Amino acid sequence: MRKESILTNRKIYKRNRLMEILRCSNQNLSRFDLKKMSGYSMSSILELSREMIEEGLIYEEECEDSRVGRKPAWLKINPDGGYYVGLEFNAQYMNTVVMNLVGTILYKETRETADGVSSHRVKPEQILEQIQDMLEIAQQNAPDRGRIIGIGMGIPGYVDSEKGYSYGYSRIPGWKDIMIRDLVQESTGIPCYIQNNVSVMTLAYKWLNYNGNSNDFVFLSIRTGIRMVTLSNNRLVTGKGGFAGEIGHVRISNGGRICSCGRYGCLNSEISDPSLLNIIKEGFQVHHYQRIYELAGENEDNVKIEHYVQAVLEGDEESVKLMKVVAGTLGRALALVVNILAPSEVVLSGKQFEIGEVFLDEIRNAVKEEVIAQNFRNLRIKKSEFGGEIGAIGAACMVMEEYFSYQDMEV
Ligand SMILES: [Zn+2]
Repeated sequence: MRKESILTNRKIYKRNRLMEILRCSNQNLSRFDLKKMSGYSMSSILELSREMIEEGLIYEEECEDSRVGRKPAWLKINPDGGYYVGLEFNAQYMNTVVMNLVGTILYKETRETADGVSSHRVKPEQILEQIQDMLEIAQQNAPDRGRIIGIGMGIPGYVDSEKGYSYGYSRIPGWKDIMIRDLVQESTGIPCYIQNNVSVMTLAYKWLNYNGNSNDFVFLSIRTGIRMVTLSNNRLVTGKGGFAGEIGHVRISNGGRICSCGRYGCLNSEISDPSLLNIIKEGFQVHHYQRIYELAGENEDNVKIEHYVQAVLEGDEESVKLMKVVAGTLGRALALVVNILAPSEVVLSGKQFEIGEVFLDEIRNAVKEEVIAQNFRNLRIKKSEFGGEIGAIGAACMVMEEYFSYQDMEV
């Protein structure tokens, strides 16, 4: 019995490894190529490929090459061999996607979290209901519901991925101590995986941009809070409890703004989206940021980051000045990270970065001021090319990584 299960595990591992090689290769691969690349025997390759073809995970494509002898056939991943569902949310938005086996997004949906009910009054049941509802619609939109491999969820705040447990999230006080993975797994009957919502965003990069083999990079997201996720040696750096990357709570200023953690002068309380909006609203009181005020329909309650972004793009002097202050603050925080971790890439995600290169150049200059030349020379600072659904895409990629055990492999 025991021996059997070891053999089964070994076989699953081998199959997953073949899937991984096929997924990450940019070339056409035959059975012989797979044998060379995996180091497995030809009989293993023949048996495993036959099974995978029978299960619809891969298919054969006839080779056009007319060399002498028997033509080899290319083995390809069947895009419709399975589907991954991803969901991600924070205090503002909830997103879902359906992705096929080769990473193409087939369906996506975005809604306001709890239909826009103020996050302080939201009850966990409302969020759970919305999760179930959006997941149900996503499943209905998969071309074959029976072939959904798993559901990945990017959950805000602190989570225990192994236990599938969400400790809580400061922006939605009611969301606390929830066994979210088991709840969804039981109601859908589909394997579920959870991870912090910003952490999963990096998986979208790792799998869809870098084909599973990423450089060391740092991903920084600014929304209601600021979080940084590091990918080092191709793995997420989460810390033992999963609490790594809290750059939002690094004290960057001696200023008097209070942060959600109760301290003063954190990066979050200086430049997160809500903090920036507060600065702008304070400006309204003393008749500044008039262009932003106009764009918000002369209603302070309507002001959004989008209005600020537009005012900067129009060249409004006060808004540009504010953008430079934000870039300076963010640049100083990033410089600490770059000097310590020396990543080859910093990817910035969030609505503020819609300002584009003008903002990025200011950030680059601020970083350059404070890091050693060697660490700046090979550094790229860029904005994320994914849209607002990046968390849901990353959550879907997490299913791929977990289900096929890709994270344990070196290809
Ligand atoms: Zn703080």
